[in-house]
Amino acid sequence: MSGAVIIGAGQAGVQTAVELRAAGYGGPVMLLGAELALDALLMRGPHFYSEQAIALHQGADVTAIDRAAKSVKTADGQCFAYDHLVLATGASARPLGCPGADLDGVMVLRSRADTEALKLRLEAAARLVVVGGGFIGLEVAASARKLGKQVTVIEMQDRLMARAVGPDVSAFFAEVHRQNGVDLRLGDGIAAIAGRNGAVSGVRTSSGVDLDCDIVLAGIGVSPRTQLAEAAGLGIANGIVVDSTQRTSDPQVFALGDCASFPNPHGDGMIRLESVQNAVDQAKIVAAGIMGHEARYQAVPWFWSDQYDLKLQMVGLSQGHDHVEERGNRADRRFSVFYFKAGRLIAIDSINRPADHMRGRRLLAAGAAPITPDEIDTHFAARRDT
Ligand SMILES: Cc1cc2nc3c(=O)[nH]c(=O)nc-3n(C[C@H](O)[C@H](O)[C@H](O)COP(=O)(O)OP(=O)(O)OC[C@H]3O[C@@H](n4cnc5c(N)ncnc54)[C@H](O)[C@@H]3O)c2cc1C
Repeated sequence: MSGAVIIGAGQAGVQTAVELRAAGYGGPVMLLGAELALDALLMRGPHFYSEQAIALHQGADVTAIDRAAKSVKTADGQCFAYDHLVLATGASARPLGCPGADLDGVMVLRSRADTEALKLRLEAAARLVVVGGGFIGLEVAASARKLGKQVTVIEMQDRLMARAVGPDVSAFFAEVHRQNGVDLRLGDGIAAIAGRNGAVSGVRTSSGVDLDCDIVLAGIGVSPRTQLAEAAGLGIANGIVVDSTQRTSDPQVFALGDCASFPNPHGDGMIRLESVQNAVDQAKIVAAGIMGHEARYQAVPWFWSDQYDLKLQMVGLSQGHDHVEERGNRADRRFSVFYFKAGRLIAIDSINRPADHMRGRRLLAAGAAPITPDEIDTHFAARRDT
């Protein structure tokens, strides 16, 4: 028996190994991670892997998959044979494409090493420009303001976190960031980064405004890592294409987490999600599939983001909503926005109202009865202040 080979030792890869053992998989489990200092070790500790008989290979950068021979090769010449292959290769931060993007001080935030580098650099910096008003950009902006740094956020769209939350929540967060001293520039982009002696000294926005700064953080999204799968002839479309059992176009090969594009169980077409919940829930489906039990991914997506004293929690996908109800009190910074489509609840954004979020997760769970706008208070009122 060759066993299960998992490429990528991030959230999705580690969880797949864990779920395989939890499901009673008796064969070898090989977890291959490109980094020398693996997040996997920080997630579970070194003893966990030996206790669970999971062979964790650090510095194992997989460069090729041979589907006919059912094996993978690493950059340092190792070869691993598999019965089942799992692609958990994640995503990489999209780099800026403007002039000056290669200057020292232009940073991204994806890996633990990126976090350490940004922390160190921020200590000595006075002014930060964040490009992108999504979760990553705004969380960094909030942390940098707490450290007393001068912060500008440049966002191309006319509202913040547009992919994730509804317009009212975007507007609320824009106000909070401005109240906290962030220079927020919506509907603007970055035209060029200026440098002095090879290091960042400022940016020019698309609208022609020049801003001095010491760091530029690009928080403009990620690209799924699909190169290996593509070279192996697997289907790719905004990620590695899988069915609702997480199988790729080769039934012996699974993909999950940030790298995988899957059929949206709650709407039309294919989606790719970037969240811990998605990686963890899909790992259960992969493990079930390898064990020969057919399971389908139907989980309701949920996310969170902490900015200043605000805990933003989201459940469901609000795109395409046609009706909105709000409960709670914005002035107290505790409220929830409920999104409806064709008369049924599809998503909730909660700010400092964790009970609404938790209840929403249970109520929106696959198969739960639909909730109409009239039923909101019945389901959520009793928990309004918790
Ligand atoms: C700063 C930051 C904050 C976040 N905050 C939240 C949050 O608050 N809530 C939330 O739900 N989500 C959050 N996320 C998103 C969440 O971390 C990701 O969705 C999750 O980590 C995805 O897991 P993954 O295993 O699919 O991908 P990754 O975590 O990207 O892991 C993929 C791993 O595969 C390795 N790999 C790739 N190619 C190869 C190869 N050829 N050979 C060997 N190894 C390879 C990579 O090096 C990497 O270690 C955050 C992400 C970032 C960057």
